[in-house]
Amino acid sequence: FRLILGMMCSCLLDLCEDMRYDTEKLDFWLHPVSTELPVDIRVPHSSVSSVTEYLIAHNIHYSVIINNLQELLDEEKAEMEENQMNEFSTRSFNFGAYHRLETIYSWMDTLVAQYPKLVTKQDIGRSYENRPMYVLKFSTGGNKRPAIWIDTGIHSREWVSQATGVWTANKIATDYGTDASLTSLLNTMDIYMLLLANPDGYAYTHSNDRMWRKTRSKNPGSVCIGVDPNRNWDAGFGGPGASNNPCSESYHGPSAHSEIEVKNVVNLIESHGNFKSFISVHAYSQLLMYPYGYSCGSVPHQPELYSVGKAAVQKLTSLYGTTYKVGSICNIIYPASGGSIDWSYNLGIKYSFAFELRDTGRYGFILPANQIIPTATETWLALKHIMEYVRDHPY
Ligand SMILES: [Zn+2]
Repeated sequence: FRLILGMMCSCLLDLCEDMRYDTEKLDFWLHPVSTELPVDIRVPHSSVSSVTEYLIAHNIHYSVIINNLQELLDEEKAEMEENQMNEFSTRSFNFGAYHRLETIYSWMDTLVAQYPKLVTKQDIGRSYENRPMYVLKFSTGGNKRPAIWIDTGIHSREWVSQATGVWTANKIATDYGTDASLTSLLNTMDIYMLLLANPDGYAYTHSNDRMWRKTRSKNPGSVCIGVDPNRNWDAGFGGPGASNNPCSESYHGPSAHSEIEVKNVVNLIESHGNFKSFISVHAYSQLLMYPYGYSCGSVPHQPELYSVGKAAVQKLTSLYGTTYKVGSICNIIYPASGGSIDWSYNLGIKYSFAFELRDTGRYGFILPANQIIPTATETWLALKHIMEYVRDHPY
């Protein structure tokens, strides 16, 4: 089995860094950040004793959060299979379940067919493994209206992100015409949603390794596969918080936009030229963040982004009491260069935000499916606040 350790890094940060390099194959779910935030590490069965010895020897307190990850993975898989049979026999789509790529893609066609005047599907290019990448465009007309971008699942193992994207796309389609605020928004603006920003990675989380985070591109000269697609953008590329080791989970890749999945988005956003907001959805940690990640200095619009974020989170929290922190990526989690919202902000898209959805580590990436709808519903309140603010503050 594998276990997830949660610990307060009361040690010096470099001690934790140390450990990362000393012990192979540790999967940091949450990286060492500051002395106030915990670190979550997935430890393979074979390394459990050496890791715990190390921690004890260095007087680092830890607790076991998930004793047997495999058990959770097995449960998740069984639940998915059962749901698949139910959906098949009832010919319905369950928004409270995790789905494979093909199922999400065919659901997108259903949505387009159901709301042909509002929703279209755009093919924005192919992934490294030649899967199509589709964007759902919500538009009531016009030509290159001011637009809002939302992507989910750039890190493939963060499943509640993609699932929230699916729920949200459906929510937008069903609420148009009944929700006055969303209707007025869509009468002047477009919304673009990329539900599977890393399709190869997502397929791989279903077929081979549920914990896969990166793309699936080959790295010349290395046996290790994949690039961290959220370290690959042309924004402080190769700076702090990204690795130049192809075997690292945060490998930035050979050059900015080397990953075709990133490049496809860059091409769409640049050729469109009228995006006013760029929102990227991750999991987990319950954070709402704005630029920068590559630098801890304040961006020019810091006070405004903070207050929009704060108000959005207040709405989110009002539903179930889920607490979120708001801040810049660098200050709230860690320096992370080459991130998408730093790139979009530098391109001139002022309202650039990144979410880290539920939870704070109890289940981490293996968030139970029964939390999908509550997560998506509360997140919608925050998303809607940001979108309304963008609508009411043209620039
Ligand atoms: Zn992520």
